[in-house]
Amino acid sequence: MAVTGYVYDDRYLWHDPGAFHVERPERLRAIHRRLVETGLLDKLVPIKPFEAPLEWVTTLHDPGYVERFRRACEKGQPILDTGDCGICPKSYEIALLAVGGVLAAADAVMNGTVNNAFCAIRPPGHHAERNRAMGFCFFNNIALGARYLQKHHGLQKVAIVDWDVHHGNGTQHLFETDPTVLYISLHQDPYTLYPGTGKSSEIGRGAGEGATLNIPMPPLSTDQDYLKAMERLVLPALRAFAPEFLLISAGFDAHADDPLANIQLTEKGYQEMGARLAVFAKEACQGRLITVLEGGYNLSVLAACVADHIRILQGN
Ligand SMILES: [Zn+2]
Repeated sequence: MAVTGYVYDDRYLWHDPGAFHVERPERLRAIHRRLVETGLLDKLVPIKPFEAPLEWVTTLHDPGYVERFRRACEKGQPILDTGDCGICPKSYEIALLAVGGVLAAADAVMNGTVNNAFCAIRPPGHHAERNRAMGFCFFNNIALGARYLQKHHGLQKVAIVDWDVHHGNGTQHLFETDPTVLYISLHQDPYTLYPGTGKSSEIGRGAGEGATLNIPMPPLSTDQDYLKAMERLVLPALRAFAPEFLLISAGFDAHADDPLANIQLTEKGYQEMGARLAVFAKEACQGRLITVLEGGYNLSVLAACVADHIRILQGN
């Protein structure tokens, strides 16, 4: 049994990207309600997020962009950078709180309060680039968490596995030339889905060459296809890299019933992937693992997959 932390805050519901937006507050409400109903919440250690200090946000984001985001919210602008990045006056503050959720989870794992943690946060982060918002994302929560583990907690090597159905362009670009952060992404073939990056030929640049692994999955790929990719590509790359900490960018939008993409994963497939990564973290990283919510837009699927994943983190 492991002690699992849970990052959640009602303020995460305050980020309002606009009416009819799929990245809606109900996503977290559905997750939280499921954890209450199943009794799982009682067995989790609550981790209180804090607003990430600017000094940490700007370790990876351009200070000019951060200020532009702050001002856009202050002025009450409806979007930032692209039409799909809707904002409200509270969005900047809540985006900082999302980053701070991952930082607080990192502190809790590193100081031994918990063995691992799940961050039920929004807005999501993996599309956020150094100097612009993209794909419902404003600050790159998981990337900032990885950097914080290195700079604040003194770790050398951190690995990120991203199984959101969309390629995490932001995370890849932030660490593209960095050999100390391994970024592995399984996503629907970029020729058939947003954002169009994440081809297998993108392997990192310069000193970071080889520390980016993109695994594009053809539309209609199944649990078996994903598990094969885990066994043949993801786990060997993780073993070779030997990280001290594992982070998962967990989007549950590769599920067959998700409205945004065309992959056919089931709850079982997500369970199996989570279990394999949890075992890896146990064997190679002293169990140190944080899962950060990215996408997932079918509310009942999202809630079920997160509950399953939390059971796996707990060792069940
Ligand atoms: Zn996604």
